[in-house]
Amino acid sequence: MKHRIVVLGAGYAGALAAGNPARRLSPADTGITVVNAGPDFVERMRLHQLAIGRDLTSRRLSDVFAGTGVRLRLARVTGVDPERGTVAVTGEDGDGELA
Ligand SMILES: Cc1cc2nc3c(=O)[nH]c(=O)nc-3n(C[C@H](O)[C@H](O)[C@H](O)COP(=O)(O)OP(=O)(O)OC[C@H]3O[C@@H](n4cnc5c(N)ncnc54)[C@H](O)[C@@H]3O)c2cc1C
Repeated sequence: MKHRIVVLGAGYAGALAAGNPARRLSPADTGITVVNAGPDFVERMRLHQLAIGRDLTSRRLSDVFAGTGVRLRLARVTGVDPERGTVAVTGEDGDGELA
């Protein structure tokens, strides 16, 4: 059976948690999905620059993960059920559940 990895959030931690195994594992054996609430990679440690009026160039997560095999799901995580091994999400596509 193909392994499924679901990473919640695509900040610094989530982007690495998805990107590193994507480079090491075969897509034939493993499917990696990242769920993030918004479409952009937000560099939190540069946000203070906004406060002094600088423009931050935002990067689309779809560009960050392009060509990696990581599937991006733009949605908000509303629940995690460890016993069933599922993640509940809600987004533009409506409510859903990821195994
Ligand atoms: C002004 C500032 C300066 C900083 N400077 C430094 C520094 O110099 N050095 C340093 O080491 N650290 C610094 N930090 C801390 C650093 O930014 C954080 O430690 C780091 O961003 C944490 O990464 P993360 O991936 O865990 O979370 P985040 O970067 O917060 O990413 C979380 C991601 O999860 C998504 N998310 C959240 N909830 C949900 C949900 N329910 N459903 C779907 N997606 C969701 C968010 O949209 C986001 O993309 C700074 C922080 C700030 C604010």
